[in-house]
Amino acid sequence: MKVMFCLECGDIRAMDRAGGWSSCLCGNITARWRNPRQGTVDVKRSSNPKTTRFIGLDNKFLFSDLTIKGGGTNENWRDLHKSVTSLAHGYVFHETVRNCWACIIPVGVTNDIDWFDESNSEKAENTSLSG
Ligand SMILES: [Zn+2]
Repeated sequence: MKVMFCLECGDIRAMDRAGGWSSCLCGNITARWRNPRQGTVDVKRSSNPKTTRFIGLDNKFLFSDLTIKGGGTNENWRDLHKSVTSLAHGYVFHETVRNCWACIIPVGVTNDIDWFDESNSEKAENTSLSG
């Protein structure tokens, strides 16, 4: 899961799952899912790179809230954090990278959040969940 995070207006916002462009409250960030199933994101070049961020949230951690052992004691949550960050090989969440289930990510730092290039027709074509 990824959400937009604007350092200008403080807005944290989910993007349109149908593939449309979404903007933060102040309009600084405009982004869309390039492919929601793969978790890839396009960000319009008009967004200010210095104040454009995304928050990556590990899906396994988020959805473990439904199944966490013991009703979710602090120890259970710490165990879940350790489990999720040790299993997230190749992801920013992994213990050798950020070691956290929630990460603040600038555009272009990971391989799944990129500036939108209208001249690149392959990237320009997004695949919506409803498509
Ligand atoms: Zn904003």
